[in-house]
Amino acid sequence: MTHELRNLPTLYADCNTGAGPDAVRVIKKSHKKSATSDSMNPAAAEVRSSIRTVLASWAGLVSDERRLQPPSREIPTLARFLGRHIQWLTRHPAAGDMAEEIRDLARNARNLAYPNSVRRVPVGSCPESDCAGELFAHIRAHDDLHPSEIICTLSPCHSWPVTCWARLARQIHIRKGERA
Ligand SMILES: [Zn+2]
Repeated sequence: MTHELRNLPTLYADCNTGAGPDAVRVIKKSHKKSATSDSMNPAAAEVRSSIRTVLASWAGLVSDERRLQPPSREIPTLARFLGRHIQWLTRHPAAGDMAEEIRDLARNARNLAYPNSVRRVPVGSCPESDCAGELFAHIRAHDDLHPSEIICTLSPCHSWPVTCWARLARQIHIRKGERA
């Protein structure tokens, strides 16, 4: 539960970007708040609103029962607050319900934010000699059976598993230095 709680703020943010390139363009052009909600995919808006409601209601339970100042309704603040009281929460009779709700939320948000459960993140130029490809990290959801990896756009043989990321980062860095 701690893991999913920590991930929720990122999932919450990524549900917005998952709404597609058109929506992103509209948001960037307009500074009006209404544009953001209008352009957001309705399913994403729903998941985001339930993340806020669920986190706020569990934070409310903690602050009521422990006589604490309730946190603000910002998602990262709520998640941090619950994280700080996780030991207390796991001993609470409602712990099972909370774990289930958080797990469902995280799953729904993940499906929306990363429809193929893969996120592509640009990493840099491929460090293999004579390769002009670009590297992308394929970040999979943590419950996916395939490991996350970095793959070159030109050659599928140029791929690095998660465990090699540190070494690869050094190679990219060195190669960049040589090209400069
Ligand atoms: Zn390559």
